[in-house]
Amino acid sequence: MRIVLLGPPGAGKGTQAKILAKKLNVPHISTGEILRQNVLNSTDLGNKAKRYMNMGSLVPDTLVTEMLEKRLEFPDTKCGFILDGYPRNQSQAKTLDNILKSRNIDIDMSVYLDASEAVIIQRLSGRLVCKSCGANFHVKNMPPKVSMVCDNCSSSLYQRPDDNATTIKRRLQVYQDEVASLMKYYEGQCKLYRVSSDEEPEIVLEKIIEIAQKVDGSLKV
Ligand code: AMP
Repeated sequence: MRIVLLGPPGAGKGTQAKILAKKLNVPHISTGEILRQNVLNSTDLGNKAKRYMNMGSLVPDTLVTEMLEKRLEFPDTKCGFILDGYPRNQSQAKTLDNILKSRNIDIDMSVYLDASEAVIIQRLSGRLVCKSCGANFHVKNMPPKVSMVCDNCSSSLYQRPDDNATTIKRRLQVYQDEVASLMKYYEGQCKLYRVSSDEEPEIVLEKIIEIAQKVDGSLKV
């Protein structure tokens, strides 16, 4: 299945995408995560993207789209993917459709994860991310077994530089500016589903799977 997860920063897209990807046996593609790896490795793309990310602004479409197009060429995307963080605006949604159309495929569904501002701030301000595998933890909600060490790969955890109060505000604003037209786009294709993500991840996951099974009656999870 090809699923797009939409929602503001902190809505739980990354958490849901990771579990869903495992369950459906398709890759989790997070444009934010690919960009962060590029920044950490000081690649040309990372150096270009860094200042936008640190400001909480969107990285220019051309850079992100080229990066995504390359990722979608990997053979592991043949049976589907979970997209997290792309598209961010209507123009990216159209570009994505065109990329997929050229391969005679399409997005099956988009899920908008809706979270309240209080929950978003609480989640983002305590979030910890693994430098190596990108796994997410939370100082209170999901602490690692050993302080600042990833449970999965033992690499060190860090707080994202854009998870600070000022940048969070800016990221939420940027998201709000674009989300209405993005949702309208998927609504127009009858592919938009809304799920409240204030609840525990397991409950949110159940709701997403229920929708996915309605969309694809043959889906086995
Ligand atoms: P995320 O991990 O999805 O919260 O993304 C972190 C940051 O990466 C964003 O604030 C943007 O600066 C950048 N980014 C991620 N995905 C995109 C995208 N599709 N378009 C533009 N910028 C992006």
